Amino acid sequence: MPITLNNELLQAIARHSEEAYPSECCGIMLGEDEGEQRRVFALLPQTNQSAADEQYHRFLITPEMMLAADKQARAQQLDVIGFYHSHPEDEARPSNFDREYAWPWYSYIVVRVRDRNYDKMASWRLDDDRSHFDEEDIHII
Ligand SMILES: [Zn+2]
Repeated sequence: MPITLNNELLQAIARHSEEAYPSECCGIMLGEDEGEQRRVFALLPQTNQSAADEQYHRFLITPEMMLAADKQARAQQLDVIGFYHSHPEDEARPSNFDREYAWPWYSYIVVRVRDRNYDKMASWRLDDDRSHFDEEDIHII
């Protein structure tokens, strides 16, 4: 099942990834899931809450940030449908650490940044048994 976002949102994720470099950036994606397709309508960029010396390979969104995001989503009649974060000088796929902290159903966009420049992004969903992520297509409109 693909995830759809417009080019403006894609550029915003890319810019956030470059600005945060060499740390990981992170954000929450609001949108709609209609079973056969899901679409991102808004981004809530977050401040990475992991320890300063861990931010080059970790990101943390606190439960309080999740609650606030949920509230904002409902106010816009949207849902939290996923998260994005960057991997400075690393691959556009979730790490083992990411898997331990991820939940099934949500889309996880991972952005590869090289030399402070956006390189590529890919979207992933955790399997229900939490053993692995499957890649999902990103449709840019
Ligand atoms: Zn990661």
